[in-house]
Amino acid sequence: MEAGVSLTDRLDGLLGRGVSAKLENEFGITSVVHLLQHYPRRYARGGMPLGEDEAQAGDHITVVATIARVDEIRMKPPKKGSFLKVTLHADTQRLEATFFNPKVLRHVMKPGKKMMFSGTVGFFRKNMQLTHPSYLELRETADAESVRGSGQLAELARAAQKADSDIESDLLRDIIPIYPSTKNIQSWEIWSCVRIVLDQLAPLPEMLPEEVVTQNQLLSYDQAIRLIHLPDSEADFRNAQDRLRFDEALLMQLILAQQRVTESRRSAPSMPAKAEGIAARFDTNLPFTLTGGQRAAGETIAERIAQPAPMNVLLQGEVGSGKTIVALRAMLQAIDAGYQCALLAPTEVLATQHYRSLRSMLGALGQGGELGADDYATGVVLLTGSMTVSQRKTALLKIVTGDAGLVIGTHALIQDTVEFFNLGLVVIDEQHRFGVEQRDHLRGKAQAGKTPHMLVMTATPIPRTIAMTVFGALEVITLRELPRGRSPISTKVLALSMSRKWLPRVWERIVEEAAQGRQAYVVCSRIGDDESGPAGNGSEAPSTTAVVDMFGYLRSGPLAELRVGLLHGRLPADEKDRVMRDFSAGEIDVLVCTTVIEVGVDVPNATVMAIVDADRFGVSQLHQLRGRVGRGAHAGLCILMSEAAEGSSALHRLSAVAATTDGFRLAELDLQQRREGDVLGSAQSGTRSSLKLLSLLDHGAVIEKARDIADAMVTEDPELARAPQLAAMVNAMGDGAGIDYLDMT
Ligand code: ADP
Ligand code: MG
Repeated sequence: MEAGVSLTDRLDGLLGRGVSAKLENEFGITSVVHLLQHYPRRYARGGMPLGEDEAQAGDHITVVATIARVDEIRMKPPKKGSFLKVTLHADTQRLEATFFNPKVLRHVMKPGKKMMFSGTVGFFRKNMQLTHPSYLELRETADAESVRGSGQLAELARAAQKADSDIESDLLRDIIPIYPSTKNIQSWEIWSCVRIVLDQLAPLPEMLPEEVVTQNQLLSYDQAIRLIHLPDSEADFRNAQDRLRFDEALLMQLILAQQRVTESRRSAPSMPAKAEGIAARFDTNLPFTLTGGQRAAGETIAERIAQPAPMNVLLQGEVGSGKTIVALRAMLQAIDAGYQCALLAPTEVLATQHYRSLRSMLGALGQGGELGADDYATGVVLLTGSMTVSQRKTALLKIVTGDAGLVIGTHALIQDTVEFFNLGLVVIDEQHRFGVEQRDHLRGKAQAGKTPHMLVMTATPIPRTIAMTVFGALEVITLRELPRGRSPISTKVLALSMSRKWLPRVWERIVEEAAQGRQAYVVCSRIGDDESGPAGNGSEAPSTTAVVDMFGYLRSGPLAELRVGLLHGRLPADEKDRVMRDFSAGEIDVLVCTTVIEVGVDVPNATVMAIVDADRFGVSQLHQLRGRVGRGAHAGLCILMSEAAEGSSALHRLSAVAATTDGFRLAELDLQQRREGDVLGSAQSGTRSSLKLLSLLDHGAVIEKARDIADAMVTEDPELARAPQLAAMVNAMGDGAGIDYLDMT
């Protein structure tokens, strides 16, 4: 056979129009390499089952099955004659085929024979049946003249034999790959295409350096690609998967290693700490003692921003672990060095709150340019989208002149009209809300040739392997301890589908807390009837309670005695601001709100949170929400209310959240529930489609090994000039693949 097909060849010339059109339409597969990277999702033994899952009545299916038994059954009178019932086993499935001409077929259908059947599915007493399917007998040595079978399948076999492809004997293999398939193109069709291509494929060149292959005991690329589609044993496909998975990990790590090199070549302002200045003054008047973790993080960051290469630090720590003060101290060091800082927050509520609390922590130190300010004082400025034109003008002016050392804002900060005098440090709070592009845009606002230092903060913990992969260029610092004075939060799940009698207790509990001078949140999943729910949870027909309805109900019903406030994203900015301020000041007892309060909001006096339709929220989101209570001296209580059915996965998820407050465990749980593609962000389809066998959660060891190898390779040879094929793949994969976990919300 001529061995001349190569990876980049198009399929339509090789496979014929019909089937290559199907491959393209269903999976976007157009070239040999696409097809060969359409890896089996599992392997079947002893036959090829139907498509993917349970077949439905009316589906047209094709199976390879072994005949288990054959019975000739008399028709019930008044009908005459008999039919042949053939019981089939295919992998783990069992089905029956019936034929109405038993005389002829008695001699063909014999127990133990392996055959391919194709027909329409019906059900009889829960048994899956094919009535008069076309069939093809599979034999080791067959020739076109002696094909035994009927209908379509026999034609196919004859055609295949003319094309010199031996379908029959391949189907007799012990292990048959099962491919991701659809109604329009079934697994066995895909496999036939793969086999036709493999038959003609020239030996594939090895792209990995030889020592990497031998040291890691990997199959060659050529072997791996062939064995993943045509394994003779379990060891074959496992080894093949290992090799190809390793390739995915290595490519990804090479991209990240190169990014790190590029990053380290940038130049950043050096901002060493000063013995005297705003930072030192602030430290002498700290409102509390820093935790060990806060101090250690502060030291690392102080050291990094003193360097002339940009810092890239991810500061992660539980909700309430006190990240803000760590960031503030770094910002003051930058101001001492003559630079400005930008603090970017995802919501207006949070930006405004930061502005207020930083100003109050700084006191006279934050009144730069104002009367009675400290010598070392700096200006603190807020910039959000909802400011008036004149407010905005004033702010922009202070930013461009450098009067404002500390600029706090929302996305409004990213706009082109915002010009800094001398930006040295960018801090991004709750970074999972921002994409890389936004981040980079803000970094681009430094003086020409300079890259500001960057500190990103998150309360959504990132599992180690993800941090290693996705944040390959970031250094991760974790605050593990909570400041003293933090109180435990207990979480209860209230399954309303089982019993509603506890519902009034929730409101009573809130009344009791208020009677003791404490405050509560009631969180709903959506605002009003004119929208279908929060983006992302894909609820079609929400039977959920809108926040405006809940507000109306509570205010005139169970909480009529209390001061109840309403907060959601569509209120005017000054209204939001007023409500938040009143709640902080204790002038509102109960805040009925949406997830606008999810991140960062800090009202230590709030002790109870009731989350309505809690099943509508993701695990991380619930954890974030819950972090709003128990921030003061009193224990927090979080009640997860749900209408989800008993035993449903939704209730299980809520119980899992209730069972632990360990953010790292919850983050892993969250990731397991999302598809990992989502973790990599939707914009990164290039990267996503290149991670087929590698799971960021499950293959930590491979990823770690690949990272070490990638680091060594890139340190020695940054452009990978010595491995040109690998370099080409890295470039192809790296294009538009700013692998990013930040895009997930
Ligand atoms: P988060 O990490 O969730 O952003 P914050 O920075 O908002 O947490 O801190 C939560 C609260 O804890 C704030 O009120 C802050 O003033 C307070 N806090 C921070 N550090 C300490 C500390 N070392 N001791 C006592 N309280 C602290
Ligand atoms: Mg915070």
